[in-house]
Amino acid sequence: MFTGSNEYKQRRYDKGFCVNCSVKRDSEKALCVDCRNAQKIAAQKRHEQRKIENKCTGCGHKISGQRAGQKCLRCWFSHVAVVSLGTRDKGEGIARLFFEQRGQCAYTNEKLIPAKNACLDHKIPRTKGGSNDLDNIHWVTKDINRVKGNKTHDEFLALCRNITAKYDN
Ligand SMILES: [Zn+2]
Ligand SMILES: [Zn+2]
Repeated sequence: MFTGSNEYKQRRYDKGFCVNCSVKRDSEKALCVDCRNAQKIAAQKRHEQRKIENKCTGCGHKISGQRAGQKCLRCWFSHVAVVSLGTRDKGEGIARLFFEQRGQCAYTNEKLIPAKNACLDHKIPRTKGGSNDLDNIHWVTKDINRVKGNKTHDEFLALCRNITAKYDN
């Protein structure tokens, strides 16, 4: 859990102490309740401060020309990875995917704007056994995502064809 210069933390942890203040821990978590709460409050403060200073709320880097409370592109991708795929490890992968799609919706080619209209879609939805692997993922607009719902890629295309078949004639 802790490595290198954090060896002393590991020792504290193994003895059942909070790694920050060394009181007896109440759970498997590294910090005691008080330290966890303090950490939460500090994080909220940091978030507010970064908003005021127009910095990325994730990493604190200065971002220019963006709305207050926004994240830099890198932090936004890892945020989406956490929310949509349950791990920030896939942040780089979905960023690559975004640029491979040239920042366009996989279905409509509409321009995707991070933190605005862009979201991830599972080609085969999770509810139908689809995985969180990158080959089951593509970028679409939020509008498309809403309409597609929990349809598979093929079901969605069939629906679109039905609609256009009716109105094209
Ligand atoms: Zn503590
Ligand atoms: Zn950032």
